Amino acid sequence: MRTPDYGDPRLPARFWAKVQPEPNTGCWLWSAATMSTGYGAFGVTSKNIQLSHRVTYLTLVGPIPEGREIDHLCRQRACCNPAHLEAVTAQTNITRQPRVINARAASHCKSGHEFTPENTQWFSGGRNKPIRRRCRTCRLAMKRRDRERQKAEKLGRRIVAKRADFEAWLDRQEQATGRGGEQDVAS
Ligand SMILES: [Zn+2]
Ligand SMILES: [Zn+2]
Repeated sequence: MRTPDYGDPRLPARFWAKVQPEPNTGCWLWSAATMSTGYGAFGVTSKNIQLSHRVTYLTLVGPIPEGREIDHLCRQRACCNPAHLEAVTAQTNITRQPRVINARAASHCKSGHEFTPENTQWFSGGRNKPIRRRCRTCRLAMKRRDRERQKAEKLGRRIVAKRADFEAWLDRQEQATGRGGEQDVAS
């Protein structure tokens, strides 16, 4: 999914006026009325109140698949950044709650890159897996190292293959000239 931008024109200006981007976490926090549950409430019309994170998801991502509900990877219920939202089964949503890693603890990754919104990827390892945060810079570096290692391995295999060819070629040369290595040594 391409990450939608804050202020995306598919939502009206009066929606964005109520959304406060949080510079450290990348959360888009709902600054207007919230439900008792902590979710943002947006009046589509005076008689149609919708949860703000569902509004961004449905508008900027797409329909919520049957039997799924929106889970906040960032655990901020007032957040409506689609990059922090995931459509999961109700069961996954419940089982995840106590297993969430405190993603807010560190401001920098182990390699010292700052967890800015641009440098932060939220992900879940799958059903019933805890939600984690990872450093985009480190992730890209890891992918680059993987590619380089694969290239080196491929080159290594080619060299081994060539060596076998070369040995076969040497054997043929010896046979063509009618003399084997051992005879040479003996004479
Ligand atoms: Zn968030
Ligand atoms: Zn890093």
